[in-house]
Amino acid sequence: MAPARVAGGTRELDLRGLLLLLLQAILYFAVMAGLLRLRRRLGIGVFVCALGVMHFLETYLAAVFFIELPFGLISPGSTVLFSGKLAMILLLYLLEDGETVRQPIYGLLIGNMLMVGLVLLLRLYDPPATLTGYNPDLALIDHVGVLMIWGTTLLFIDSIAIIVLFDAIVRRLRGQVVLSALLSLAAILTFDQILFFVGLQLVAGTPASALFGGWIAKMGAAVAFTAMTAIYLRWGEQRPASPETGGVADVFSKLTYRYRYEELLNRSRTDALTGAWNRQQLDVAGPQHLAQAAARGRAFGLAIIDIDHFKQLNDSLGHQAGDAALVGAVVAMKSSIRPGDQIFRYGGDEFVVICGGVPAEDFLAYAERLRAAVAQADGGALTASIGIATFPGDGADFGELIRAADARLYAAKRDGRNRVASGTM
Ligand code: GH3
Ligand code: MG
Repeated sequence: MAPARVAGGTRELDLRGLLLLLLQAILYFAVMAGLLRLRRRLGIGVFVCALGVMHFLETYLAAVFFIELPFGLISPGSTVLFSGKLAMILLLYLLEDGETVRQPIYGLLIGNMLMVGLVLLLRLYDPPATLTGYNPDLALIDHVGVLMIWGTTLLFIDSIAIIVLFDAIVRRLRGQVVLSALLSLAAILTFDQILFFVGLQLVAGTPASALFGGWIAKMGAAVAFTAMTAIYLRWGEQRPASPETGGVADVFSKLTYRYRYEELLNRSRTDALTGAWNRQQLDVAGPQHLAQAAARGRAFGLAIIDIDHFKQLNDSLGHQAGDAALVGAVVAMKSSIRPGDQIFRYGGDEFVVICGGVPAEDFLAYAERLRAAVAQADGGALTASIGIATFPGDGADFGELIRAADARLYAAKRDGRNRVASGTM
């Protein structure tokens, strides 16, 4: 089937074609993003349903309706409707999560396949009754049916691939959501253009100029839709910036499912008051770190830190001041430890620091720095006693090290507090 061409060739017409495409893309994005914006009020179903309906004429148009631009024949069906759909799927993923975006992806696949199946059954009525003055183009229906299966399969692959690719890129680019969206959209549209064109060529005999022209147009669509996505993320859906981060990119990255998931995961592993890792995490990570250090022949040490006379501080200044003191102690200890070391809240005013790579003979000095950091934090109002243990001298496993350090902590308290007790004392 020869593609219908819009008569043209003058520069004016070229410009009009481009402007019309851009206008379509803007209209498409504005309405669909508007539905997305209203999803809390209307339900996500309205957006998903509209996205599905957008598929209705898309395949047909992709096969028969072309316009001529300076760089080749291009299909508005592919350029606007198809590229827009992928952009919408990505935007939905950015705003919601994998579970939500799975719904339109599976719905489009199953709905389109069902439609093709129904049309195949319909074609068993052969020949159908004719209406006077109107001859249905049955060959076209068959062609579009084949393209529909091909396009739908590709869309399914594209939709999953764009999310996986986006995730991979955004991690590498450290949360640069807009650039990652552009790169993944451009890559998947390129992949799709090549494979869908093979189908078009076989079924509709589409000329090769549509491959390159269509690709250029899709790259333009990727830029336009990404720009609109960026605008939407910046002004369409404002979310409060999280207190510890300021950058726009960080706020965007927090919107993604994976980031939210990791944040949630971290929250379940940390102590809500101090931000130190919690006791459960110590039970998991402690033995793991020890095993890793042992396997690599690295030194491993741990320190149990207990704030001195903390009960008195609580009683005299109040529980809130006590809380603030605990937070201050953790901040002080964090500034004293090395990057790979970890602090855990072991109990009320008790903390554990684990450290790999500091030799046993230097570990006392390491713990001394921890003690001094706590003592300096609150102008001397707060002190801590510390018991330490190192592997393998003080124990063969994590439990033994904890018991050894705990016994020394008790000794440090007994000997007058604000001190570090090690096995050599
Ligand atoms: P010592 O020098 O022997 O350690 O004396 P201490 O008063 O610090 O004794 P202990 O370690 O037994 O007391 C811990 C206190 O910490 C008891 C408890 O009320 C308080 N505590 C536990 N968790 C919290 C918390 O989250 N916030 C506050 N403000 N206090 C807490
Ligand atoms: Mg205490």
